[in-house]
Amino acid sequence: MQPEQPIRKVSVVIPVFNEEESLPELMRRTESACSGLGLEYEILLVDDGSADRSAELIADAAARPGSHVVGVLLNRNYGQHSAIMAGFSHVSGDLTITLDADLQNPPEEIPRLVQAAQQGYDVVGTVRQNRQDSWFRRRASRAINHLIQRVTGKAMGDYGCMLRAYRRHIVEAMLNCHERSTFIPILANTFARRTIELPVTHAEREFGDSKYSFMKLINLMYDLVTCLTTTPLRLLSIVGSLIALAGFAFSLTLIVLRLFLGTSWAGDGVFMLFAVLFIFVGAQFVGMGLLGEYIGRIYNDVRARPRYFIQRVISPQQHASSVQETEQ
Ligand code: UDP
Ligand code: MG
Repeated sequence: MQPEQPIRKVSVVIPVFNEEESLPELMRRTESACSGLGLEYEILLVDDGSADRSAELIADAAARPGSHVVGVLLNRNYGQHSAIMAGFSHVSGDLTITLDADLQNPPEEIPRLVQAAQQGYDVVGTVRQNRQDSWFRRRASRAINHLIQRVTGKAMGDYGCMLRAYRRHIVEAMLNCHERSTFIPILANTFARRTIELPVTHAEREFGDSKYSFMKLINLMYDLVTCLTTTPLRLLSIVGSLIALAGFAFSLTLIVLRLFLGTSWAGDGVFMLFAVLFIFVGAQFVGMGLLGEYIGRIYNDVRARPRYFIQRVISPQQHASSVQETEQ
């Protein structure tokens, strides 16, 4: 396999949401992992509207002379994937690596990802070995992974792990996608020709709690599904027409039986009819819920609100906090 373009610079994008405890260690470990690469590098820390001192710490780190940290501060919380996109819009490297700020993905794995990308892969994914999450989270993500594999036909073992590397053209392609609800690993895969997955270690969260509430997780799952496919819509129409067909056949049977067996029989059947009706109403609600998820996203896209506003960008060169409003 021939590498198309040499990698001269590596950009690491890390979304940060209330991670003040882990930030110092994160920066130290990421810097030391990157400095061993023998390549140019930058570390983009995207503050996703943290309420703690994260933004301050990032700004300080970026302002330090000779620092490799670039701070991108969003004006409020937009969610992990939007924050990563905001980071993408400011990367300058040939290879971009994403990472979680909570140190569950060890930064020490970065060199292995770079090495794999140098072999000519567009996207380098990772599979978490000995995953350190709750039983519920593991089950949920196994179900989602299973669904993804069935829909795409691509065997990607672990979509939930954000320790990934993307080549420049993949990042650019993603930036050109203007939908608001994105799930980055899947979006990247739709543009990648060659992908590879490496097994990586996964540590327990040392500081704080997961930033995903149950509702946020549900939202993420729907983002993932709608980003991936419109198959549920097709399923809805298939299942819907099957149900309609069954309903039609059933009503025909009822009419025929009513003609042959008389009204007393029909009177006795009223309750059964209601029961059947409830089943159909239920099925409709399930379908409508699914439709609603899509329509909600269509609505968001049609409304075309900016995905985020960056309040300011702090880079080591111009740390005089240049205030600038950017839209994406
Ligand atoms: N995160 C973010 N915005 C959010 C939620 C999370 O930027 O609204 C970041 C968070 O700081 C962390 C990463 O996304 O760097 C993954 O979050 P977390 O570790 O809470 O997720 P989990 O590991 O539980 O899936
Ligand atoms: Mg985590």
